[in-house]
Amino acid sequence: MTISKQQHDPVQAIRDIQHFGEEGGVVPVIDVAATSTFMQPGDMEKAFHGEIHGCYLYSRHSNPSVVMFGQKLAALEGMEAAIGVGSGMAAVHSAITQLLPEGGHIICSRSVYGGTFALLNNILPRFGIQTTFVNMDDLAAVEKAITPRTKVLYTETMSNPMLRVADLPRLSALARKAGAKLVVDNTFTPLLVSPAKHGADVIIHSCTKYISGASDLIGGAIVSSREFIDSLIDLNNGMVMLAGPVMDSRVAHELYHRLDHLPIRMQAHSHAADFMARGMVEAGIPVTYPGLSSHPDHALLKSLMNPEFGFGGMMAVNLSDPVKAVELARRLQLEKFGLYAVSLGFSRTLMTCSAATTSSEIPPEEQKKMNLSPGLLRMSIGFTGNDRVMLQRFLSCYREIFG
Ligand SMILES: *Cc1c(COP(=O)(O)O)cnc(C)c1O
Repeated sequence: MTISKQQHDPVQAIRDIQHFGEEGGVVPVIDVAATSTFMQPGDMEKAFHGEIHGCYLYSRHSNPSVVMFGQKLAALEGMEAAIGVGSGMAAVHSAITQLLPEGGHIICSRSVYGGTFALLNNILPRFGIQTTFVNMDDLAAVEKAITPRTKVLYTETMSNPMLRVADLPRLSALARKAGAKLVVDNTFTPLLVSPAKHGADVIIHSCTKYISGASDLIGGAIVSSREFIDSLIDLNNGMVMLAGPVMDSRVAHELYHRLDHLPIRMQAHSHAADFMARGMVEAGIPVTYPGLSSHPDHALLKSLMNPEFGFGGMMAVNLSDPVKAVELARRLQLEKFGLYAVSLGFSRTLMTCSAATTSSEIPPEEQKKMNLSPGLLRMSIGFTGNDRVMLQRFLSCYREIFG
C-alpha cells in the first residue's frame, strides 16, 4: 500500500519500522563490523562493479545499524531513504557538494546556522561554488537571485536563531521552475513540520539536537529519494563514501531507539515553551515564540505544521543590552533555570547569546540584515522540572536585572 505524502502520519510510520535482534530480540543488535565476508569470492568483484546490490561490503559504504536508523528516519519524514552521517555539518556538506557541479550556484537563506553560513561563504568558493544569501521571506529576491547555474535553494524550516519560518511550498515552486533542488534543514522542527509534504527534495538533520535529546552525542542525517541517498555512497562519485563522514554504528543504534520517543519529547518541549512564552508576554517581556500570534510567521507555520506537536521548544528574548543579556543568563544558570551552553533539543533548558557565539561566523553587517541583535538570548526550552517554578525563576532573575 502506498500512502500519499498528504496522509503521511509520522508517528505511525515510526511505529511500523520493526527490526529484530539475532536471537529474536525485541531490539536489533549493534552491528559493529567494519567489513563483511563474501562467501563467494566472485561476488566481491560484482559488488564493486555495481552488478549486485543490497549486500554489505565495508562500513564506510554501509552498515546495518546505520541503515536501520536511516529507515526509521525516512519513515518519520515520509521520504524514501535516509543516511546517518557523523554530524549535522557533515550532512550539510555532503548533501550540498553531491548536488553541485563545478561552477554551481546556491541560493541560501541569510538566516541560517553559523556553521552553514561559514561553509557556504568561506569554504565552498575555494572549490568554485558560489552562494547568494537572501532573505527567504522575500520571494521576489529569491527569484531574482536565480541564475542558470543555480542548483540548490537552501533554507532552514525554522531559522536559527531568528525563528523565522520558510514558506516551503512557494520556495519549492521556485526551485522547480529553476531546475534546482530545495534542501531544507529541519533540525529545529522534527515532526512539527514534514518538509517533504511541502516540496523539499532533500532534508538535513543535526541529530545532535532534538533527535538525540540527551546532548550526549554528535550525529547528522540526510533524508531524500532512494536515488539521491544511493548516490551519496556511490563507490566512484559519492560524497559520503569518498569524503568518509560516516555515522558510527553505536551512535546509529542509540538514535534508532530515541526516534520512538521523539514524538512525546517534541510535545513536551512545545508545551513547556508555550507556557513559558505566555508567562513572559504577561510580564511584558519581549519574547519571540512562533506559537504567539504576534510572531510574524505564526500563520505560515500553522499552515505548514503537523498540529499535534505544537510550535516547538525554541524561543528568543530580545534584550536591548548584550552585557545585561549575558548577566541574565548567568543568573538563570545559578538559579538552575537552564544551562549557558550552545546547542538545543536537550531535556533541560539551554541558553546562548547568539550574536557573539553560535552566529559569530556571520559578520555584523549580515547579522544586521537578518535582524539579529547583540542582546538576543536564544533559549531551547527543556521539559524537565515544573513549568510554573521554571517561569517564576525566569521572572525573578529578569526583574533583578531589568527592574
Ligand atoms: C547544530 C546545527 C547544525 C550542525 O550540526 P552538528 O551536529 O553540530 O554538526 C546544522 N544546522 C542547524 C540548524 C543546527 O542547529
